[in-house]
Amino acid sequence: MILTYPSQIDTSKLKVIAFDLDGTLTQHRTPLDDANRAVLDKLSKKYRILMVGAGMCARIFNQMGGYPVDILGNYGLQYAKYNPETKTIDVIRDTVLPCDRESSAEKVEAMRREFGLTEYAGESIEFHASGAITFPLLGKSAKIEDKLAFDPDRAKRRPMYPRVKELFPEYTVFIGGSSSFDMVPAPNDKFYALSKLCAEEGYSHDEVLYVGDDYLEGGNDHAVAVSDIAFVTIDDYTKLSERLAFLL
Ligand SMILES: [Mg+2]
Repeated sequence: MILTYPSQIDTSKLKVIAFDLDGTLTQHRTPLDDANRAVLDKLSKKYRILMVGAGMCARIFNQMGGYPVDILGNYGLQYAKYNPETKTIDVIRDTVLPCDRESSAEKVEAMRREFGLTEYAGESIEFHASGAITFPLLGKSAKIEDKLAFDPDRAKRRPMYPRVKELFPEYTVFIGGSSSFDMVPAPNDKFYALSKLCAEEGYSHDEVLYVGDDYLEGGNDHAVAVSDIAFVTIDDYTKLSERLAFLL
């Protein structure tokens, strides 16, 4: 439920503020800066802070410079808790799901022919240890500048999105990164991960507020944005403190 104005929710009920990382607290894959670190510091005096990421817990923890926070990673397939004694994270859940690599690779080749994407650099499909899959349209080894220039507004990938979902019905499909589709075995997505955490740790959904940038259809925060969990949209991570002023 995207909040159009802060008074839409009763902040006195809130216990958990859950964050996406890339595009919300930082620029894509860049370190957490001092300004947004200070926002987290202030919030953590009143609320429990939680990260909910598409990447692995260790990557999120490192990108945040070892910030003391619990992390749901890989869309909830991983869960890591901060250990104040060791000042690192303990991974307490690391789910690995099966993946039919042969049939997935065939589907990706079919899409390459269909979409005219038969030229690519390196691997055509990327299989992750968790069971998730990435379909890098330009190939896994394409140059980063080519990847960034390929589809910045997602105009190329949006028309393909229904077809990818159709071919991978057993996955949740995201328009990911700069030039790829990411697929994680269904029903896993960020809302499923948050709901599971609420059930396991005794929170109701109205005690949680989520902050994310990728809230449109196909985005990795979309499932939360259309759920019963309150959602604050971020379109510019440098304006985070203004957007969250109502919580501070
Ligand atoms: Mg994001």
